Amino acid sequence: MKTIVIIPAAGSGKRFLSETPKQFLKINGIDILVHTILKFQKSKNVDKIVVAVNKDFIEKVENLVKKYRLTKVVKVVEGGKERQDSVYSALKSIKAEPSDLICVHDAVRPLISSKEIDELIDFATKKKAVIAAKKAIDTVKTGYNFVEGTLDREKIWLVETPQIFTYKILSEAFEKAYEDKFYGTDESSLVERLGVKVYFYQVKGENRKITVKEDLSFARIFLK
Ligand code: C5P
Repeated sequence: MKTIVIIPAAGSGKRFLSETPKQFLKINGIDILVHTILKFQKSKNVDKIVVAVNKDFIEKVENLVKKYRLTKVVKVVEGGKERQDSVYSALKSIKAEPSDLICVHDAVRPLISSKEIDELIDFATKKKAVIAAKKAIDTVKTGYNFVEGTLDREKIWLVETPQIFTYKILSEAFEKAYEDKFYGTDESSLVERLGVKVYFYQVKGENRKITVKEDLSFARIFLK
């Protein structure tokens, strides 16, 4: 059984108020995307990596792969309009066995440790469908301008990536999603529609998504 990682990195990062997409901003002199790929390059459980980027950045990423000797990166493919389209483009480029694991991880989450990646993949080997998540620590309420209700915190999870599924499950989920014109913000929401049981893996360490300037400042200190 092999594990193939898909890294969607084709976002334009418009929320960041920067001309450069955030996956190409530098932390301590190295592109965020490279920091993220290095975590998977170092994981003993990862066999191959496919990166999806906007076509204007394909050559840049191929050069980064050479420069940093990211030997597990086997393909840099063109991404799509939405994150889901980028993941699908990478998935279609992969040749895998039904039981191989496909691990999807956002390019802009460079802080995860290789040890946690290994643990997640070990867990997914047993469960076949696993997502990284953190349990809510605050009380969670619903409503727009006033409170409609309070949710049971024990059942609330804030979902991150990696999200790991067998090739069979993920391929079926994507095919069904496109058939039904369904778009989700993560892979799990596509897999859930198949009725497959998806297990939470509680992330212990840092894994925040670089979204606002403060995240970048935090990442600079964290990755030193
Ligand atoms: O925009 P958001 O922060 O949700 O993006 C999560 C990840 O998905 C980022 O790594 C981004 O580059 C990627 N993405 C993509 N293709 C898109 C949009 C986002 O690969 N069309």
